[in-house]
Amino acid sequence: MSQVTNNSPGPRADEAGSGRPAALLERAAAGRDGQAWSDLWTELYHNGTLEASHPLVLPALTDMAEGDDADTAASALHLAGALLVQADQRYETRELRDRRAPEVARLLAAAHRWRQATGDRNGYCYLLEAVLNLEGDIHWGEELIWGLISEEYELECPDEDCSAVLWVVIGERGFFSTSEDYALSDGVETLPLHPAAPGALDGLGRRLHGLALADGHEDVAHALTHAFGEATCPQCERRCSVVGQVIARSG
Ligand SMILES: [Zn+2]
Repeated sequence: MSQVTNNSPGPRADEAGSGRPAALLERAAAGRDGQAWSDLWTELYHNGTLEASHPLVLPALTDMAEGDDADTAASALHLAGALLVQADQRYETRELRDRRAPEVARLLAAAHRWRQATGDRNGYCYLLEAVLNLEGDIHWGEELIWGLISEEYELECPDEDCSAVLWVVIGERGFFSTSEDYALSDGVETLPLHPAAPGALDGLGRRLHGLALADGHEDVAHALTHAFGEATCPQCERRCSVVGQVIARSG
C-alpha cells in the first residue's frame, strides 16, 4: 500500500499550483486560443480556483495588453479589469490594485491606446469597460457597458409600490421602455426614452460620450445619451434615470 509522504516523488503542491496559471497564461498569450481565455475566466473569475493575486497573473496580462495582437490585448484588458473590480469588492480593499499599481498603470495606458485604434463597435465598448474597471472608481462598469453591447437593460422601476420589471431597449430594435417581454409578443406597450441632450451631460456620461465621439463611435455616443437619460415605467408612468437604476441593480 502506498502512502503519500513528504518524500514521495512528483511535483510539490506549490509547484503544481503555479504550473496551472503559467500554462494557461502562456496558451492565452500565444493567441487564437479561445479555450485558454474561457478557462482563465472560469478559474480566475467565476470559480476562483486560481488566485488573481498570483504573482504571474497581472504581469502576464499586462505584457499581452502591450503586445501587437489586438484580440489578445483586448481579452487581457477585459479580464484584468474584471479581476481588479472583483478583488476590490470581494476583499473590500484596494490591496491588489495598490500592490500591482505599476501593472495597473500600464494596463490603463494600453486600454487607452487600443480604444483609439479599434473600429469594432462591441470591441470598443469592452475597451471602455476595461478603462472604467482599471480606473476602479465605479464597480458597475460591466453592467453599464453590457447594456450598450446587448442593446437592452433589464431594470426595476424605482417606485416601491410598483417595482415593475423595466426593459430599456437601446439600439437597432428602437429606443423605448416596456415592462413586458417585447421579444415574445407583438403589440406590447412601449414608451419612448428621454435621452440626455449631449450638452447637458455631466460627470461620467459627459466623459464617455466625449470619448466615443473622439474615437469615431457615433452610435456608441448616441446610445450613451439614452443610458444617461431617462425612461418611463409603463406600469406607473414614473420617469427615472436609466443609469441610476443600473447602479441600483448592481447593488
Ligand atoms: Zn413603475
